[in-house]
This record gives sequence, structure tokens and C-alpha cells, in this order.
Amino acid sequence: MVTELISVGTEILLGNITNTNARYLAEQCAALGLSCYYQVTVGDNPDRLEGALRQALKRSDVVILTGGLGPTNDDLTKEITAKVLGKNLAEDAHTRECIEAYFKTTMHRVITDNNWKQALVPEGAVVVDNRNGTAPGLIMETDDNKTVILLPGPPNELYPMFEQDIRPFLSRLTKEVIYSRTVKIGGLGESFVAAQIKDMLDSQTNPTIAPYAKTGEVHLRVTARAQSVEMA
Ligand code: ATP
Repeated sequence: MVTELISVGTEILLGNITNTNARYLAEQCAALGLSCYYQVTVGDNPDRLEGALRQALKRSDVVILTGGLGPTNDDLTKEITAKVLGKNLAEDAHTRECIEAYFKTTMHRVITDNNWKQALVPEGAVVVDNRNGTAPGLIMETDDNKTVILLPGPPNELYPMFEQDIRPFLSRLTKEVIYSRTVKIGGLGESFVAAQIKDMLDSQTNPTIAPYAKTGEVHLRVTARAQSVEMA
């Protein structure tokens, strides 16, 4: 099962924020046994976002998009996803109630009209409640059985949503885990270490071994795919 992450936000491209969501989701996907072959970052631009999503759907089974679910006009992720999947947007009464309840329990007491944009969901989407914000998560299926997951950008909304709802959903898609340990070797160069374990590097399949040169150290990341962490 191949997964792909699309981080949406011009702030990321400009280096204004660090893409910690991609780091978090990549780790989580690996732990769930999902192979992540591509991570894409795209700005708040409708054409480029559409292109990134279409490309991801050609080469990956599960596409996870983060960010761009806010109430303003430059938040486009849901609208573009609906367009690519050929779905209409309709107001979801439950999400509208959640937004109203969220505003009552936080300092932002005034609901502006643009907040209702966040209650629009693509037809057929599974709505994932956001207990820490107003943009719900969304899980959608394409006609050819691929899965598209939309998650809010703010980490304090994304992490709990992932842990509570998205991880259990994804864990049902795969029966394997990917588990890594790192062997740290001090005082030897990368080429020397690689020469010492050449037979292992040449014949590796499962686990795989990846050498990384660090300052004064070489790290060997050993990664196994198996039915459980214990077996790995
Ligand atoms: P909102 O409802 O707040 O508008 P959103 O889903 O539209 O949320 P964005 O507007 O893209 O998300 O991002 C809101 C904030 O979330 C950013 O300013 C940033 O602080 C944080 N954020 C977004 N994407 C990432 C990311 N990939 N890694 C870390 N933080 C992020």
C-alpha cells in the first residue's frame, strides 16, 4: 500500500514554517506499514494543487493532504479535491453544529459568514470531527478505490485527529508494520563502514540497510517489514 503526503501552504514553500506535519505523518505511515514514496509541498495555488493531487492519485493508493482547510478564499484543498474527484460540495449539518459548538466554547465568539465554508463537505465523504478547531478532517474514496484524506494544517488539530480517527482507519488498510532501528558507529568513515558490510548492503531485501554519514559517526538505519513490531 503506497501512500503520498501533500503539504499545502505557501508558508512552507517560503520557509516561514517548518513542515513538521510531513515529518510526523511520514513516521506514522511507516509505523503502520504504509510505504511513503513521495512527499510533495505545494503553495496555495489552485492549478498547482490540482496537478499535485492528480499526479499523486496516479502513483499512490492513499493520498494525505494537510493544510488549506481554513475559512478564507486561499484555503482551497477541499474545493480542489472535490473537483478532482468529481464531487459536489454540500453543507453537512453535523459539521455546522460542531462549528457553532466550537465557537461557543472558545474565545472566538463571533462567527463570520466565511466560517460556514468549513461546513461544506464533498458528497460521500466521511467527516472526521475536529475537537480542537473548526475544519473537519475528510476521508474520500475515488472511483478506482484510492483513498484521499484531508487533514487540518495546525499541528494541535492534526495530531489528535490522526491519533483518534485516522490511525485506526489506516491500520485497517494494511496488515504489516515497518520498523527501524539505528546502529550508531563512532570514529569510522562512511566508505570504510560500507566496505565492511558490503555483502549485507549488496544482498539486502528485508531488512534494508541505509548508511548515513554524520559528524564523527556513521548511522546504519536497519528497516524491516513484518506482521508485527516484534517480528520485525
Ligand atoms: P486554518 O483553519 O487554521 O486556516 P488550515 O487547515 O487551513 O487551518 P493552514 O492555513 O494551511 O491550515 O495552516 C494554518 C497553520 O497551521 C499554519 O500557519 C502553520 O502554523 C500550521 N501548519 C500548516 N501546515 C503545516 C505543516 N505542514 N507543518 C507544520 N505546521 C503547519
